[in-house]
Amino acid sequence: MKITYLAKLGELTLKGSNKNAFESKLVRNTRDFLKHIPVDIILRAGRMYIEVEEEYCSKVEFCLNHLIGITGWAKTTICDKTIEAITETVTKLGKAAKEKGAKTFKLDARRSDKSFPLDSYGIMREAAAGLYDDKTMTVDVHNPDVTIYIEVREKCFVYTDSNIGCRGLPVGTSGKGLLLLSGGLDSPVAGYRMLRRGMKIECIYFHSYPYTSEEAQKKVEDLAKVLSTYGLQTTLNIVSFTDVQMLIKEKAPEAWSTLALRMCMMKAASMLAKHISADCLITGESLGQVASQTLENMRVTESMAEVPLMRPLVGLDKEEIVETANFIGTYDTSILPYEDCCVLFSPKHPVLKADLEEAKEIYKKIDPDELIEKSFNEREVKHFYAFESL
Ligand code: ATP
Ligand code: MG
Repeated sequence: MKITYLAKLGELTLKGSNKNAFESKLVRNTRDFLKHIPVDIILRAGRMYIEVEEEYCSKVEFCLNHLIGITGWAKTTICDKTIEAITETVTKLGKAAKEKGAKTFKLDARRSDKSFPLDSYGIMREAAAGLYDDKTMTVDVHNPDVTIYIEVREKCFVYTDSNIGCRGLPVGTSGKGLLLLSGGLDSPVAGYRMLRRGMKIECIYFHSYPYTSEEAQKKVEDLAKVLSTYGLQTTLNIVSFTDVQMLIKEKAPEAWSTLALRMCMMKAASMLAKHISADCLITGESLGQVASQTLENMRVTESMAEVPLMRPLVGLDKEEIVETANFIGTYDTSILPYEDCCVLFSPKHPVLKADLEEAKEIYKKIDPDELIEKSFNEREVKHFYAFESL
């Protein structure tokens, strides 16, 4: 049996003359995600319909839960184009919602097939009768627990508004960013935030093996994989910073070691950004969260960035970040206790308000550029694709 899913396009409908380009990008992204599954995708009037054989439903639902650019989706029931069939379907969906706790409902009917004998008001009046008769639920047009939608087109679709989408703009409509991805809570959320603005993402991760473990790297690979399910694909560049960290330890004042490391990371990330034609760097920094993220220290870090630096979490607190990490499914991986390279060499009393000129002097004294270039050239590259997670 074929099932039809309906996805609602959100912000895209506001895009004026660019609307078509955004919509076709969304359809291409959906096809790309579902490339190994036989589906029919149709775009019509601010909706995307996906028709698929029942055996593939869970894969399509996974795709819809991760697809950026839709505000919500529903599994629709297609019924005969008669008021009796519509009433029966509405009653069935209403009762199912009641079993899940809904006490009030609202019907929302649209008739684009004008040959159907009842107008939308008539459809709603008749179709609601089944639920009234049963006295199962009462109508609340302002704040219903469940809305049951009826669309009479070439076929008749009935559905409830049960699943929220990721919203945002389709990935690939806003350039490309290079995300500095650590194993922590923040950077995957920062990546997701930029994906939701339509940006494609590649990732760079710095490790200090053997001071950091293989598990720490595996954790970052798992996070990159989750990000690929929202971004369709992601490439993880793995860079060994062990030698750079040793050099910092030897040459920089202890209080400066974390900040000096951040400067080196920015330098290496800038090299890669230019190499892969990324338009910006992205970090998970949030103002004041830790010593290296005071305004002064962030200024020092960004002085090394050779392309624009985006910090999508800068004004968020930890609770807000955790909420998103839970929503996107990175929380459980991020909190695994494997050490990050920054923690290993972190000073007892880090500098809190670094002076930019002093920072530049210290960087000059460390003179890490040659080592950074070497580690950059020896990077390992891994690819992750959304369809692999289906
Ligand atoms: P996160 O939770 O993302 O690790 P954090 O709160 O632990 O962030 P820091 O460790 O100070 O903060 O790192 C700030 C940002 O620097 C991170 O969000 C990330 O973008 C980048 N970063 C830190 N360590 C690494 C690393 N080992 N590899 C790549 N990027 C890193
Ligand atoms: Mg961290």
